[in-house]
Amino acid sequence: RHSSPAQTEFYQAAEEVLECLRPLFERSPYYHDHSIIERIVEPERQIMFRVCWTDDAGKVQVNKGYRVQFNSALGPYKGGLRFHPSVTAGTIKFLGFEQIFKNALTGLPIGGGKGGSDFDPKGKSDTEIMRFCQSFMSELYRHIGPATDVPAGDIGVGAREIGYLFGQYKRLTGCYEGVLTGKGLSWGGSLGRKEATGYGAVYFAQSMLEARGEGIEGKTCLVSGAGNVAIYTIEKLYELGATPITCSDSRGMLHDPRGIDLALLKELKEVKRVSLEAYLATHPEAHYVPVADYPADGHAVWRIPANAAFPCATQNELTKADAETLLGHGVDCISEGANMPATADAVDLFLGAGVAYGPGKAANAGGVATSQLEMAQNSSMQQWPLEKVDAKLKAIMASVHRQCADTAEEFGEPSNLVLGANIAGFRRVADAMIEQGVC
Ligand code: NDP
Repeated sequence: RHSSPAQTEFYQAAEEVLECLRPLFERSPYYHDHSIIERIVEPERQIMFRVCWTDDAGKVQVNKGYRVQFNSALGPYKGGLRFHPSVTAGTIKFLGFEQIFKNALTGLPIGGGKGGSDFDPKGKSDTEIMRFCQSFMSELYRHIGPATDVPAGDIGVGAREIGYLFGQYKRLTGCYEGVLTGKGLSWGGSLGRKEATGYGAVYFAQSMLEARGEGIEGKTCLVSGAGNVAIYTIEKLYELGATPITCSDSRGMLHDPRGIDLALLKELKEVKRVSLEAYLATHPEAHYVPVADYPADGHAVWRIPANAAFPCATQNELTKADAETLLGHGVDCISEGANMPATADAVDLFLGAGVAYGPGKAANAGGVATSQLEMAQNSSMQQWPLEKVDAKLKAIMASVHRQCADTAEEFGEPSNLVLGANIAGFRRVADAMIEQGVC
């Protein structure tokens, strides 16, 4: 079945889900009779398109654009757009597949989708970014809509890009409607959306620890990444009395034993958009390790002693050797802000060790859940106060954890939240597919 090397990440994600479903299928052959597996691994629709734009020198540039509309059993397709040079059709397919089960776990009416481009926003001027986004939307607009498919941000797509994409959608359709989430607060965005994925990953860690009679306060934490998810994971960790001591970007990792200076991190990454190395100019006591000096078998962040880990950068950024080091240092809580950041053999080690391990499709569901809250606000033409959004986010993350834990218990592996997340998410989608007939 591994017929295409270009789909390695998709096979990795699908294999994990299918392995976990084995006990469910033994108990309920009913799903097998309806060919649910054969149907669920096949996207309802995949769109690939050419994105031409003109750079500041007047030269025409060409990129690939993608949108995978994977499963609409529970609601309109929902999932982010990723702009990164590593993006392929296989990357988007893996992310879209994960999104189906994540969205199901939120309990909200949203189907699974994902999209993006191999466009690299790094080093581009604002006007180049704008022209690219306008060109990307000039094709995408015909496939999306508030009741069909509602994209959001992901790696390389933040408030600036969502603004340019929305402006072009409005220009092409003449409609001011909730077709994207993560919008600016003065024009349809939800308070708390920017923070939601990171905050949610910390709330999830809190739920896992509380279930074991522990708390997050006082813990020293490793965070990877320095983007949207990492920054707001760090912010919430401080709020709850923990100390995040690392972060990383694509060029290197930063270790500040006294705790990452959050205001400076925001300044470097949200405003100046520069390398983390610039942190050293005002904090010479911190340590910076460039990627070239990372251990050959993993990531420098995971080699620092600490109590908890929050991978918040990208897929497969935490290897088996990293997991061995983390466990050797006594790390007993791992909550994934990123999608599939741990390799399959790293996950096996965490599960074997019985530590609190929250897989991305559960632990980072707060972002998409709050995107759905933004859709609800848009359709009722309201903006809710931050307290209301945050209270809902907290309740949703507690419910996601409860479903994973209860389902893991039901299938005889109480601490295996990977099993719990996959079975609970799958059951909700599969039941809806069966009720809706063969389609
Ligand atoms: P951002 O673009 O804001 O930040 C990504 C961070 O990860 C940056 O620091 C970037 O470095 C680093 N990074 C990206 N790719 C690589 C790579 N190949 N190797 C090393 N470092 C890398 O993205 P987000 O914070 O939004 O997303 C991070 C993760 O969280 C992704 O897995 C995403 O799918 C997941 N996620 C995001 C959600 C959201 O709401 N935004 C929702 C749910 C999951 P640099 O600064 O150098 O580019």
